[in-house]
Amino acid sequence: MAPTCFMELPEFHCEVGSTESMSRVLQTHPDPSLGQAAIATDCFPALRRGRLTTLQVNLGYRCNQACRHCHVGAGPQRTEMMDPETLALIPRVLAARQIGQLDLTGGAPELHPGFRPLVQGARELGVRVIDRCNLTILLEPDQQDLAAFLAHQSVVVMASLPCYLEANVDRQRGAGAFAASIEGLRQLNRLGYGSIDSNGDSNLELNLVYNPQGPSLPPPQQALEEDFRRHLGERYGVVFNRLLTLANMPIERFAASLKLSGELDSYSALLRENHNPAHLDQVMCRQLISVDWRGRLFDCDFNQMLGQRSAGLVELADLLECDPEGAPIAVADHCFGCTAGDGSSCGGALA
Ligand code: SF4
Ligand code: SF4
Repeated sequence: MAPTCFMELPEFHCEVGSTESMSRVLQTHPDPSLGQAAIATDCFPALRRGRLTTLQVNLGYRCNQACRHCHVGAGPQRTEMMDPETLALIPRVLAARQIGQLDLTGGAPELHPGFRPLVQGARELGVRVIDRCNLTILLEPDQQDLAAFLAHQSVVVMASLPCYLEANVDRQRGAGAFAASIEGLRQLNRLGYGSIDSNGDSNLELNLVYNPQGPSLPPPQQALEEDFRRHLGERYGVVFNRLLTLANMPIERFAASLKLSGELDSYSALLRENHNPAHLDQVMCRQLISVDWRGRLFDCDFNQMLGQRSAGLVELADLLECDPEGAPIAVADHCFGCTAGDGSSCGGALA
């Protein structure tokens, strides 16, 4: 049995419902060995890790786009990239911990020169690979064979499409982004992505990811999926498997813009008031661990963006020897974004 590899976090308390606690995002633990480990507060229930089933890896911040809302500030000029040594650890960790799913993100993860060998290595281990794809990358001159590669490796494509209306997508992602996204979806459809066989199965899974434009909870996932399916099908002949709805987290640029418009407190209150404890068992940090481009571990992508470290789990290499099951999760007030309403995770609504 693998040794445990985490430290217990001391209990801290905040005044539930106070303006101060609502606006606080994280606190830093005084023990430097925990790095920037944030603390579990009694504002959000304490959580512990379950069995690790997904390794989510951010390969770097380089991207062919530079969206205004991007929560990692990715763009063509960014140079941060995972180094070859860290990259080489990933298949070893997948095998050592018997992790069944590798979730690749960025930036545009496909721009990392190690992306394709990594995908191949993981698929040879029988691991399900998810590519968080911005769709426009499929049209880049040096990525003309990317869609075929993804199909050949049976990679699951999770494609961000914030709306089925061209004007809304272009406003958020830049002029021409919607048309390029539709062309990317058509490329994937031509290869069989998004189609369902007579048994209702899909060999090449194509899911769309939606998040609200502003400080509101996502609409019911099923109804919105039907709207997307009808609109994209009738207008553009595009098919897909599922639409996943995500709530916006009150962190980073989104929190800054809400603060400017005076809506940060009311949005935080909305999330808190709609907290559904039934979702606590399914929040993604219970089964997923997040790795940044430097190989550092976090409980989820949001904590990664906040620099809020996992408890005692420091580097990707730690997972070669240690099983994180049972480790405390570094929760904070933004976690209500995962449990509000129908719930939210990288797999969509939790309800
Ligand atoms: S496509 Fe995604 S990663 Fe790239 S800039 Fe836009 S939001 Fe950021
Ligand atoms: S933000 Fe969500 S996934 Fe991340 S630690 Fe909080 S509850 Fe878990």
